[in-house]
Amino acid sequence: PKTIALPELRRHGHPMAVVLVAGGGGFLGSYLCRALLRAGNVVLCLDNYSTGREDNVRDLFARSNFYRIDADITGPISVNGKVDQIYNLACPASPAAYGGREAVSTTKTCVLGALNLLELAKAHRATILQASTSEVYGDPTVHPQPESYRGNVNCTGPRACYDEGKRCAESLFFDYHRNEGIAIRVVRIFNTYGPRMGVTDGRVVSNFICQALEGDDVTIYGDGSQTRSLCYVDDCIDFLLRAMNAEQDFTGPVNCGNPGEITVEQLARTIVEKTGSRSRIVHRPLPVDDPRRRCPDISLAREHFGWTPRVSLGDGLATTIDYFRVILGLWKIGPDGILEPVRR
Ligand code: NAD
Ligand code: UDP
Repeated sequence: PKTIALPELRRHGHPMAVVLVAGGGGFLGSYLCRALLRAGNVVLCLDNYSTGREDNVRDLFARSNFYRIDADITGPISVNGKVDQIYNLACPASPAAYGGREAVSTTKTCVLGALNLLELAKAHRATILQASTSEVYGDPTVHPQPESYRGNVNCTGPRACYDEGKRCAESLFFDYHRNEGIAIRVVRIFNTYGPRMGVTDGRVVSNFICQALEGDDVTIYGDGSQTRSLCYVDDCIDFLLRAMNAEQDFTGPVNCGNPGEITVEQLARTIVEKTGSRSRIVHRPLPVDDPRRRCPDISLAREHFGWTPRVSLGDGLATTIDYFRVILGLWKIGPDGILEPVRR
């Protein structure tokens, strides 16, 4: 196994847990690392930066309680020193990133990655959380989707590498729980968006915002009547922390998402309006097996963690649009800390 030889962990002065975040350099992972550091934990950020970016966490590298581990979870991993908690967020998450030529490596990341991290959890008797997905429900026939719904996945389609990979990972988590007594948390995350999504990530929110800001055509796939339920990143991170720190025997699976359902066409119109864009809205072919409707039933999370999403779509989009204005070089942060347009 690849042994991560850390300098002696500086637990001294850090009374909280040692937490490994696999996928810590990604969109969600970079927020999770920050939240864990703020709470005083020692954070081990493991990533191969295949879809994540070092820029997401670069400002953390100098912190004394933040360790960078460049590794791939498809290989065995061992860490010197006691790890208390493991979050498995390492996996490409955008259909544009996980399919096509990357399909087989996506399945390996989902399945071998889960196995390797579960073995690490076993060795350390650590609690381990799996970032699962609403994609385990496939193209659902039940609305909204409760955790008891077993899904409608096409196991031979182009999304199967991700959907079936994540389903297999869930089964591995429950087998390690039953057979090895490992404390697990399986969280099924629905579409989550916010600042630090990659410009070329390919997911709907980042695509529409970048297209609208650049004055390019806003590309709706299909007729735009398909729905998604969009959760702002801060709400998702709050959820993951609550799930990890829930009572020891809580396993999930539990849905994490914002039940506000919106069609893709409504989303495109909202973003064009909010950005003040003159972009045209155009239609492109619908990807194969694109789910028609998606909306989480979040009763279980409400009951167990008292969790409810707090950030409205309007506020979340406004913050995300401001982020992309800066990233695309259209706006800059002025001397008074207020965003202002860049004169061209
Ligand atoms: P992301 O692509 O930004 O982050 C994934 C991170 O994992 C990246 O930093 C990537 O470099 C890393 N990674 C990928 N394969 C790896 C490997 N084999 N070894 C080590 N590192 C690897 O995506 P995200 O949106 O932050 O998603 C994080 C997790 O949450 C993923 O597991 C994803 O399936 C899950 N999820 C996200 C959403 C969402 O809407 N953001 C929805 C459902 C599930
Ligand atoms: N989509 C779109 N235009 C884009 C990107 C995505 O119409 O430029 C659609 C996509 O077909 C899907 C929805 O938006 O119906 C959400 O896509 P995303 O890739 O964000 O995530 P998914 O929920 O499919 O995993």
